[in-house]
Amino acid sequence: MTEKFTGNFTQQAPIPQAGIDAAVRVMQHGRLHRYNVADGEVAEASLLEQEFAATLGAKYCLAVASGGYAMCTAMRAVGVKAGDKVLTNAFTLAPVPGAIASLGAVPVFVGVAEELVIDLDDLAQKVSDADVLLLSHMRGHICDMDRLMAICDDADVTVIEDCAHTMGAKWGGTFSGRHGVFGCYSTQTYKHINSGEGGLLISDDAELMAKATMLSGSYMLYDRHAAGPDKEVYDAIKYDTPNVSGRMDNLRAAILRPQLANLSAQCTAWNDRYRVLDQGLAETPGLTLIDRPDQEAFVASSHQFLLLDWAESAIRDVVSRCAARGVELKWFGADEPAAFTSKYTSWRYANPTPMPASDRILRGVMDMRLPLTFSLDDCAQIARIIRAEVSAVWQSQSV
Ligand SMILES: *Cc1c(COP(=O)(O)O)cnc(C)c1O
Repeated sequence: MTEKFTGNFTQQAPIPQAGIDAAVRVMQHGRLHRYNVADGEVAEASLLEQEFAATLGAKYCLAVASGGYAMCTAMRAVGVKAGDKVLTNAFTLAPVPGAIASLGAVPVFVGVAEELVIDLDDLAQKVSDADVLLLSHMRGHICDMDRLMAICDDADVTVIEDCAHTMGAKWGGTFSGRHGVFGCYSTQTYKHINSGEGGLLISDDAELMAKATMLSGSYMLYDRHAAGPDKEVYDAIKYDTPNVSGRMDNLRAAILRPQLANLSAQCTAWNDRYRVLDQGLAETPGLTLIDRPDQEAFVASSHQFLLLDWAESAIRDVVSRCAARGVELKWFGADEPAAFTSKYTSWRYANPTPMPASDRILRGVMDMRLPLTFSLDDCAQIARIIRAEVSAVWQSQSV
């Protein structure tokens, strides 16, 4: 009998009871807006910022409405203007080039390497084209950050990190988001902590964070940011920084704080699941697992493998055979963007230049989420199913 997986790839874990209780308290007192505080009260949004900054060892933190908004705000704060070119990854998701385009700026795509990180040789060639790199640690894969920072520092390129998939991960002992001038995070449902929608921004740069805070819609209430810079820093920029409202509210912050307190346990749980999959898929003929360097302390809330140089029809076969057995694989090589997947060539507004070496890799990228509602046994079963179907299609291909 062929086994079938019956779990749900998009079912996240429930909000912890402490988060539910805190959210109910906020609704009971009614002060949902972050600047609506009782005498002596510190708002949930401000507490979240303090706790997030402390977790990552950052000087400053700002809570905002979404990860996309965090990236837009970071770029505005560093001075990206309409018409500017901004370097970014070819392998990422739509909100990343979208954030660049929302400023009237122009994304310049940098290729993807077989390890699913930004291609640093391609970056070295293109780095002089722009003043800013919006680096996306797509699907939690972190490139050699020492080399990346050396390339960008040499060219005077400012690095902003998109850490939507690397909250809690590290490169060489330093948290992802702490290499660039800003680290941007999402708290949307499918990310590492879940408030439905939401975003966080960290930085050690007082002036940039003051600008980001004003931009986020602080009016002249910036002194209510316990994890923000000193008042004098705002004085220098407050007349020259527009308000582009995108604050986080206290309800979301209340839901997030207990999840943040539990982040490292969650990260361990994800990695346990990832390892079961990697072990179950090891040495499957035709299937390439992703190499993870020792310096990378990753957080694997999803799993990827490559079917490199496979015929498209064979890949489609694998996808449909796995789907028939309850395993939803997302294929980044499909011509038509579907659900959350897409490739750089479908962002036509950015007029992308074709990158054949990257296209070869993207054609083979298979991706799946690993929600914590999956048990380790579930992951072992998923691996058995993929292994069986990939092997079957591989064998029928090579006869
Ligand atoms: C989700 C995501 C974002 C943006 O997050 P939103 O909160 O949905 O705006 C940015 N980058 C990547 C790679 C993402 O997956």
